[in-house]
Amino acid sequence: MRIGIDKETCTGCGVCESLCPDVFQIQEDEKAHVINLEACNESNCKEAADSCPTQAIIIED
Ligand code: SF4
Repeated sequence: MRIGIDKETCTGCGVCESLCPDVFQIQEDEKAHVINLEACNESNCKEAADSCPTQAIIIED
């Protein structure tokens, strides 16, 4: 599985980080980054993707 962040549409709102803090982190560019894919519990990441207000999280199986 791969997780991508569309940097053009990510607003840095922090919803993904609050749902999956081991996987997503807002960094200095004020965008979400995937910091540890190994920590991904797939259902949590899908919830984060569904909760992203701009659909900036792309999950590929
Ligand atoms: S929830 Fe979406 S818009 Fe908000 S920080 Fe995460 S990827 Fe960016």
